[in-house]
Amino acid sequence: MDPVTFDLHRTVEDVVRAFTLKAYEKRVELMHEIANDVPRFMVGDPGRLRQILVNLLGNALKFTQQGEVVVRTLRKGKTGKEFEIQFDVADTGIGIPRNKHSAIFEAFAQADASTTRNYGGTGLGLAISAKLAGMMGGRIWVESSPGKGSTFSFTAQLGETSSPENQAALMPQGGLLHMPVLVVDDNATNRRILQDITQGWGMKPYEAEGGDLALEILLRAKDEGHAFPLALIDGHMPGMDGFELAKRIKEDPRLSGATIMMLTSAESQGDAARCRELGISAYLIKPIRKTELLTAILTVLGHDAESPAPAPAKTETVTRETLLRILIAEDNHINQALLVRMLEKMGHIPVTTENGLQAIERLAAESFDLVLMDVQMPEMDGFQATRKIREQERVTGFHVPIVALTANAMKGDEDDCLKAGMDRYLSKPISGEKLREALTWVIERQGQSWQAEVSQTVPASDRQAEALRP
Ligand code: ADP
Repeated sequence: MDPVTFDLHRTVEDVVRAFTLKAYEKRVELMHEIANDVPRFMVGDPGRLRQILVNLLGNALKFTQQGEVVVRTLRKGKTGKEFEIQFDVADTGIGIPRNKHSAIFEAFAQADASTTRNYGGTGLGLAISAKLAGMMGGRIWVESSPGKGSTFSFTAQLGETSSPENQAALMPQGGLLHMPVLVVDDNATNRRILQDITQGWGMKPYEAEGGDLALEILLRAKDEGHAFPLALIDGHMPGMDGFELAKRIKEDPRLSGATIMMLTSAESQGDAARCRELGISAYLIKPIRKTELLTAILTVLGHDAESPAPAPAKTETVTRETLLRILIAEDNHINQALLVRMLEKMGHIPVTTENGLQAIERLAAESFDLVLMDVQMPEMDGFQATRKIREQERVTGFHVPIVALTANAMKGDEDDCLKAGMDRYLSKPISGEKLREALTWVIERQGQSWQAEVSQTVPASDRQAEALRP
């Protein structure tokens, strides 16, 4: 076990995000919710945690043909400085007969022989997960009935940190207090999640399950003299979809005051363009990250300028500074060791790989805040690797910042780096100062990714969240 301070919310969110394409392909709705009282930063082993979540989420999607998969993170208790955190992965899939509930946690056990034929698998995932949960001071169990679905749950003991950001993240947001918000989504679980989140910030959420009802509520509120300043609208709904609803709201002069924020999925092509055409202030890609949603709401409502205190971008900057997970792709061991030492001294978490191929594999399995990519490497060079990474990101909507490490600061090198999809380059030898400057740039860009300035420089498909000018 290797305990470190890590961002628990982000770890869960990243695992969920990694499965969005799979869920989208199966037309299964994938959601996650983190209870408002779960601290964001905790001490534990994010790698082990991720491994269990990946196992359970992979199974849930594998054994579910329709409906939804929800990942819930809950706080169960606290003894001294240890929190007991519970994770649930609930699906609406084929379910498991009662008499198999304990056997499936044993190695090489499967619920029934035909499962293997239909779904493949090794029967090892749950046995490993059970072991890992035990190592984290927790346990794992399942509640399930055939035909209805399964909920796998596990607990882990995670340590407390004194990070002040933990308090900030839980606090209601002054500027949003009592502000009504209309949540429009056809999926009841999604509506509840968004209600819980906005309520946690002190807002007053109302819900509508479709466009017609939403219009009715908006108009009634307007007539009664308390128009909604904000509507969070799911882009993809049966019947009147979110874009049509947005169009109707925009066209109705009585509703012109409402700010619309669209929640879309990364996999639907053209959502960004449609938002822009419709003059929609902002859109976010599902599944939503809480901090992204808050940043976006404060931005579109113009609150961040007035009340600097709750600005989440700032909060994030401060904490991330000590917590960047950085992937290094560099074949030269001396350079590698040098980078590791510099990064560790600055309080970051470096992970090393030796070539582009290894870097791609590592990126597929874990999430990183930044990649430092040597340009010349055996097996697969930095240009090729970057092109591959960007290609994969086109489906996921992620954009991991990649900083090239070039041997010679020749004119043209810079162009080649940017053309391949790298965001910046540093010429060797790398000094602490250069490195620090590049990291600051990454941190700032992360916090500000919704800002118009970035929207202009980064292609739409690469952004996870952005604000568009009406
Ligand atoms: P496998 O590689 O076979 O999936 P696991 O240990 O992960 O191995 O799972 C063991 C068995 O438990 C599976 O073969 C399946 O029969 C059952 N199972 C696991 N998760 C689910 C789920 N979400 N829904 C239905 N059955 C499940």
